[in-house]
Amino acid sequence: VSTLIHCLLSDMDMDEPVMISNFIGGEMVPCPHHLDSHEPSTGRVWAKVPDSGQAEVDAAVSAAHAAFEGWSSKSAQTRANHLLRIADILESRLELFAEAESRDQGKPVWLARTLDIPRCVHNLRHFAHAIPHHLNKSSVNPEVGVVNYTLREPQGVAGLISPWNLPLYLLTFKLAPALMCGNTVVAKPSEMTSVTAYMFCKVLQDADLPAGVVNMVFGRGPSAGQALITHPQVPLVSFTGSTATADTLPWPQHPCSRSCLLRFVHEAMGGKNAAVLFDDCEMDSCLDTLKRSCFVNSGQVCLCTSRIFVHQSVFKEFLERFVSVAREVKVGPPSKKESFMGPLNSKPHLAKVLKYITYAVEDGGEVLCGPEVDRSDLPALNKEGYFMRPTVITGLSDKSRCIQEEIFGPVTCVLPFETEEEVIHRVNDTPYGLCASVFTSNLARGHRVAHKLKVGTVWTNCWLVRDLDMPFGGVKSSGLGRESTQDSLEFYTEAKTVCTKI
Ligand code: NAD
Repeated sequence: VSTLIHCLLSDMDMDEPVMISNFIGGEMVPCPHHLDSHEPSTGRVWAKVPDSGQAEVDAAVSAAHAAFEGWSSKSAQTRANHLLRIADILESRLELFAEAESRDQGKPVWLARTLDIPRCVHNLRHFAHAIPHHLNKSSVNPEVGVVNYTLREPQGVAGLISPWNLPLYLLTFKLAPALMCGNTVVAKPSEMTSVTAYMFCKVLQDADLPAGVVNMVFGRGPSAGQALITHPQVPLVSFTGSTATADTLPWPQHPCSRSCLLRFVHEAMGGKNAAVLFDDCEMDSCLDTLKRSCFVNSGQVCLCTSRIFVHQSVFKEFLERFVSVAREVKVGPPSKKESFMGPLNSKPHLAKVLKYITYAVEDGGEVLCGPEVDRSDLPALNKEGYFMRPTVITGLSDKSRCIQEEIFGPVTCVLPFETEEEVIHRVNDTPYGLCASVFTSNLARGHRVAHKLKVGTVWTNCWLVRDLDMPFGGVKSSGLGRESTQDSLEFYTEAKTVCTKI
């Protein structure tokens, strides 16, 4: 990967960390200050990320503002052609991006190769193809003698803030519809995972995207992020990150100023997602799905399952089998194809997740497997990596911290239940409402329970199957607004109706 990245990012000496620049007005613009970004599987500094502030954000917003008129006046088809070219170039560099995403985030290369990067390509192609069909509508009223049509008009510069768990995947999920709707963009990726977004800037250059249409400012949330979301020339903000961060942001209802109230804001936040296993579930297939939903990407997907409610009649059998599945999960270097789980993303995040295991013990829980990794099994290079093992906990009360708070790691709590009504109440009994999974062979029950769960998405007998036409988002503390073809179109544009006498 070093040689490949070296080729891609031309002027870099790969014995040194990747030196990242901002991308402003179509140019790579060096920043005078940098942050260290650590490779999770080794603990070494592997990238130097710009520590941007107000000046860099001002320059990026200015470039995006200048590019807006040209970009917004292009036809949807022309904009789509640009996105499709970007998708093709990204796809031609899939392996390179997968390896970089793995080194930067800690996820296994196989996961980035099969999920993250293909999904980025899909995001670009989906919105390029779908948005033009939804943009404008018309109607004719011969009785009154008028023709009506609506224009969906872009809003200007969109500020896009994304987290570290699915770095390029979530960035492109915002970028593609924002651009297709005719907005220009200033994106602020997570300071923990900036490398693939930086590589993506080179793709944008190679695809001849007009200068200033996309700008990337790297750096920390409270400085670069805050400067972006409070910028007076940024009318749209789409944020994905933790509920704790979202709670500190100066919108949407914050009575700080009229301009804040007028902003268009979309937020996607944390979750405390449950799985419910009824006694008629297909146990083998459940175990297979739950292995992924609890431990893929080391449990660092906002949709990962962290509470499993199991009907008491199959509780004992499930718990025994689930613990042995967790014990068999191979944890190791993300470059190895047999590693199901790599490290967690950062040292502080690992410490936070481990802290929750001590809370579980304090709260009377029983830790059935995990979290220690046998470091003697790890290659010398990885001994300082942020590894832990899948951890299964039982015996906790519904009010304990591990059941109420988002842990965002490979830690799952298993709890028994007796009745349908009871389990619906218990699943809903957290501040979060992102997603849930219900496992049952009874179709009617699957739908009945799905209708009563207070979440944005319910999967029955599956998990993480996504269709970009379907609304995605959370309720309660898990989010505000939805993302999908239609929802994103509505978010990134405003409708204007034109009525003409004929
Ligand atoms: P985070 O909230 O720490 O950071 C997210 C982004 O916000 C980063 O780019 C960060 O720099 C920026 N930021 C932080 N403070 C800011 C501020 N004051 N102003 C502007 N920007 C600021 O989240 P994280 O730790 O990077 O990501 C993990 C969290 O994201 C988890 O809670 C997870 O559930 C959530 N998440 C949610 C979804 C979803 O779709 N609901 C998807 C992925 C991740």
